Amino acid sequence: MTDPDASSSPASSDSRLADDTRLECKICWYVYDPKVGDPVEQIPPGTPFSALPSYWRCPECDSGPEAFLPIVD
Ligand SMILES: [Zn+2]
Repeated sequence: MTDPDASSSPASSDSRLADDTRLECKICWYVYDPKVGDPVEQIPPGTPFSALPSYWRCPECDSGPEAFLPIVD
């Protein structure tokens, strides 16, 4: 028997961020780079965007994480 569900799985697994993915604020174009972290909020270098604390906001315009879009190289 063949697997009837083989081709019907949800398409996008891209919604998951890689640990080194940079994100750009769509309001002010600030870029969060995990390699750099965020000295303003004392986020150490190497912190993935997904691991930022819930209080983290854009240091430039104070937008929440939902305002950030992944930068695809
Ligand atoms: Zn911003």
